[in-house]
Amino acid sequence: MAGFPAPNILDPTQQKGREKRAYADFRRRLRAINAEIQERVVDQLRPREIAVNGLRAYLLNAERVYIYELDYLQLRRIDETIAEIIQRIMMERDGQWDVWMQRYTAEAYQQGAAYAQSSLAVQSAVYSSAYSNIESVLFTPEYQRRIAVVTSRTFNSMEGFTDELITTTRRILGDTIAQGKSPRWAAKQLKGYLVDTEGTQAKAASRAATIARTELGVSYRSAVMDESQRASESLGLVTKLLWVSALMATTRRSHADLHGRLLTRAEVTEFYSKNGNPINCRCSQVPTIVDEYGNAFAKKIFEKMAKQEERWMQSQGIKKAA
Ligand SMILES: [Zn+2]
Repeated sequence: MAGFPAPNILDPTQQKGREKRAYADFRRRLRAINAEIQERVVDQLRPREIAVNGLRAYLLNAERVYIYELDYLQLRRIDETIAEIIQRIMMERDGQWDVWMQRYTAEAYQQGAAYAQSSLAVQSAVYSSAYSNIESVLFTPEYQRRIAVVTSRTFNSMEGFTDELITTTRRILGDTIAQGKSPRWAAKQLKGYLVDTEGTQAKAASRAATIARTELGVSYRSAVMDESQRASESLGLVTKLLWVSALMATTRRSHADLHGRLLTRAEVTEFYSKNGNPINCRCSQVPTIVDEYGNAFAKKIFEKMAKQEERWMQSQGIKKAA
């Protein structure tokens, strides 16, 4: 055995930079959606403004009411315009239906595959002579099929998010019209939802951040799992997965507990199938070659990781079980 790769505990999935870029891309698109809806929908509303006095003003909590004289077809057209703008900006690229976010997840997958490849290569001479570099892994039909699995998952998430944006934006416009609010109010609500990151209102940006983090993490980890499975199947190497947690203040206890543990692929898959565990998860796993008893050849790493976990528990005020 040549050695064992040092796990990156600061950023186990190595996705922080890409996550930042993906999030910035989301924000840019959300701002563009906001600007175009202001221009093509809100600014086109021409309500009659009437002053309300006395009790009615009190009940409506307004001194002015806006009457929108829109018929059914005009209302339908507003809804269609909203959907068209959001779908085009959030889903389309270069004039074709092609989800931009899929590029990020494909890159994360490739990085995960490269990481698994280099991790296995340092541990096994058999592996390193069969797959000496990442190029021998990429561009095979098998690899392309595996990438398609994660990118189609991303497509589904993007579609769900796009539907959510459409529903909420339509509701804001619908409330404006039904409740006789001013176009200014609509503009403020839309900006609050689509652009702002502060305040009590639900934020599209925080959903976007979750999607970016979740999709990139899932993609990276899938590549590690797939590559370790392939090493087992094609070379007969027995592999397990060494769990590496980011051990941050936000790390879930159940994720931190796995830090430094060797799990089978089935156990990792089982963990991620429950309790929303993939959501916002920054943990990763190192493919680890084990002996016939399922024990790792490298030993020192486990002591080191147990200490890291202990420090994390102390920092979180968690007492170690006796
Ligand atoms: Zn995690």
